[in-house]
Amino acid sequence: YFDFFEHEAGMFNTVGPKAREIIEQDCKITSACTARPYPLVVDSAKGSVIRDIDGREYIDLVAGIAVMNAGYSNPEVKAAISAQLEKMTHCGYGDFFAEPPVKLAKKLSELSGYSKVFYCNSGTEAVEAAIKLAFWKTKRQGLISFYNSFHGRTLGSLSLTCSKARQKEHFPALRTAHSHYAYCYRCPFKLEYPSCGIECAKELENLIFRRELSPMDTAAVFVEPVQGEGGYIVPPPEFHREVRQICTDNDVLLVADEVQAGCFRTGPFLAMENFEVRAEISCFAKALGGGLPLGAMLADREIMDWPQGVHSNTFGGNLLASAASLASLEFLEKENIEDRVKELGSQMKQRLGELQENFPCIGDVRGLGLMVGVEIVKPDKSIDPIRRDRILREAFKEGILLLPCGDSVIRFSPPLVITDEELDSGLEKFQKALKKAGI
Ligand code: PMP
Repeated sequence: YFDFFEHEAGMFNTVGPKAREIIEQDCKITSACTARPYPLVVDSAKGSVIRDIDGREYIDLVAGIAVMNAGYSNPEVKAAISAQLEKMTHCGYGDFFAEPPVKLAKKLSELSGYSKVFYCNSGTEAVEAAIKLAFWKTKRQGLISFYNSFHGRTLGSLSLTCSKARQKEHFPALRTAHSHYAYCYRCPFKLEYPSCGIECAKELENLIFRRELSPMDTAAVFVEPVQGEGGYIVPPPEFHREVRQICTDNDVLLVADEVQAGCFRTGPFLAMENFEVRAEISCFAKALGGGLPLGAMLADREIMDWPQGVHSNTFGGNLLASAASLASLEFLEKENIEDRVKELGSQMKQRLGELQENFPCIGDVRGLGLMVGVEIVKPDKSIDPIRRDRILREAFKEGILLLPCGDSVIRFSPPLVITDEELDSGLEKFQKALKKAGI
């Protein structure tokens, strides 16, 4: 985390006076901290461009952390919110019935094939709901997740989270075991795909089911289709199929955490579809609400068969959020976004890959759809977070917003509606930032 008054004080000169004043006040009065190595005070936004409080413009190549899939100030989302605003903003969906959350649930069911929806407000809550449902359904209390995973920061989801060690320190955990994800660039077994035979997935059965937990004690395996916070790690397709098979063989539930990769970010609505794998439970948030806070847990009726009232909350299915969500999903569908995402994603991967020749600090370029990661390394291929952060700061000065993830990765997750021109300009600026960062 960055202290803009001390180590990052130089970055103050890159923003205007109004921004400096807000940052100073914020640091005194809120407990918010920023994971970004540059200071941005936002004011307004449209499409893929954010304008700061002093009027400077930035192309947001991370869509507000993979949230603004339909773009900022999307006219159709705004119209749906305005229409709902005129009627009613909140009703306590746990107490009353209403049209917006029901219409949205139908759309979610149509897009995902799941027959039931549980609403909440964020990713961590969707994961908490899935943990509770898995416990309730199996009457077991052991959980499994993967190294480098991220599932949230409340106590249940934090037990699963395996990146960001600092956020786990001092907090008690549910009974959780961790297995290796298919991080092929840094294979934990020093093997190479495909001759490796997906040893990492097999470890799930060997190590976890036979040593740390027993299948009789394991409620669910939680997995991200593509690891997000852990470093934009895309596993080979066999990995998820193997994990699916191990869960089926051992009668353990599979939960897909689609919070970052879902909602068309990788092409299909369900990122797991890329791997032809179906989980019993899927968790959503981030882009789901079209920019408003909304989370959801999806499952089939046979799985989500707990009686009404076992789990609930005040704001889930909020009327404004449901209206925004439905408008955003309908807009993305209408734009044939799946094809566009696939096309733009492979273009991005190719162009970032071409930079590797001139910039040897780019160790790996990987991605699925518009979830693309660039791993920054030293000449011996070891991680280089200092250089990574320098690149992020130079990128900010050039007018693009990027985010770190993993130990040494820069992530790209632009709005799915980013134009060709914006993407061209964004990648040009990235190249300039690489140069300025002194490679
Ligand atoms: N799961 C995944 C895969 C995520 O990427 C995140 C957020 N980065 C979460 C869960 C938690 O979401 P939230 O911050 O909305 O609680």
